[in-house]
Amino acid sequence: MDEFELIKKFFDLNKIDSGVVIGIGDDGAVLEPNINKQQVQVIDTLVENIHFPSTIDPADIAYRAVMANLSDIAAMGAIPRWMTLSLTINNKNDKWIESFSKGLFEAAEHYRVSLVGGDLNFAENISVTISISGEVSPSQALLRNGAQIGDSLYVTGTIGDAAGGLELLKKNKPNNELTQRFLRPTPRIKIGRELIGKATAAIDISDGLLGDLKKILVDRNLGVDIQLDLLPISEALSNQFNSHRCYSFALNGGDDYELCFTAKDEDVSNISGITKVGSLNDSGIILCYLQDNIYKFEDESYRHFK
Ligand code: ADP
Ligand code: MG
Repeated sequence: MDEFELIKKFFDLNKIDSGVVIGIGDDGAVLEPNINKQQVQVIDTLVENIHFPSTIDPADIAYRAVMANLSDIAAMGAIPRWMTLSLTINNKNDKWIESFSKGLFEAAEHYRVSLVGGDLNFAENISVTISISGEVSPSQALLRNGAQIGDSLYVTGTIGDAAGGLELLKKNKPNNELTQRFLRPTPRIKIGRELIGKATAAIDISDGLLGDLKKILVDRNLGVDIQLDLLPISEALSNQFNSHRCYSFALNGGDDYELCFTAKDEDVSNISGITKVGSLNDSGIILCYLQDNIYKFEDESYRHFK
C-alpha cells in the first residue's frame, strides 16, 4: 500500500462531526468553532524508548499519545474537539499501523475528538506527535498561576500507579491494574470542567507531583506542606511495593496524568474523585511530613535532557 492508501484505510475514519467542514484529504482542515468560545491548543510528542518502551502494543502507543494531550486539555478546563497527528514509523508493516489506528480511534471516539489531518513519515525511530484543540468559555481556562497562601493542595484519582506499572513492565512482570494505568491513563476532563471558577491554579501530573507542583509555585514565596499519609495511593500499588517506594512513585513518578490543583476547601467540597494532600504557606519550599516528622525526598521528577 502506498502512503495515500494507508491514510485512507487507517486514518480517514472519522464519524460525522458537524464542526469539521473539510477533514482529511485537502491541504488543510477547515473547522467551525462554536461561537463565543476560546480555543485551547496543546501538542505532545512521544518518542520510542524515551516516553514508552518499544515493546508495547502499537494500540497502546496511540492511546497514550491521545491521553497525554487530553490531559493537558483537562488541565485547562477545556472540552476537546479536533486533533492532528504526525506519525513517524520505521517500516510499512500494515499490521502495526492497523493496531495503532485502532488504539487511536478507540481513544478519539471515547473522548469525542475528531482526527482532522496529519502527516506520515518513515524514519528509524517511532515518534508520535498529536495536537488537540479544545474549547472553553472566554476567560474560563484553568491556569497555572493563581495559587494563594492558605489554599489547599489537591490531586485527582490515585497517584504513583503509572510509575509502578512502568517499572513492572520493564521487569517483564506486568501487573494488570498498574500497567494499565501506564498504558491507558484516564484524562480528567470531567473534573477539569468542574474546577472552572473554583481551582485557583491547575496542572496535569506528567513528570511527577513534586516537579509539576513547582510549576504552579514559581516566582512566588509560596510553599507547600504535603502530608504523606493523605496521598491517594491505590491498593494495587501498596500491595506491590513498600511504603517508601509508594511515596516515591506518588511524588516523583511521571505518567499518571492526574490533575494537581489548588483551591479553597469550601469551593470544591462537592467535587468527587479528588483528595486534599496538603496546604499552601509562605515558606517558599515544599516539605513532606509523615505524622509530625519531615520526610526527606530527593526531587527525582522526570526531566528530559537534564
Ligand atoms: P500535504 O503533502 O499537503 O502535507 P499529505 O499528502 O501529507 O498532504 O496528506 C494528505 C491528506 O492526508 C492531508 O489532508 C493530511 O492532513 C492527511 N493525513 C496525512 N497523514 C495523516 C495521518 N497520519 N493521519 C491523519 N491524516 C493524515
Ligand atoms: Mg499540501
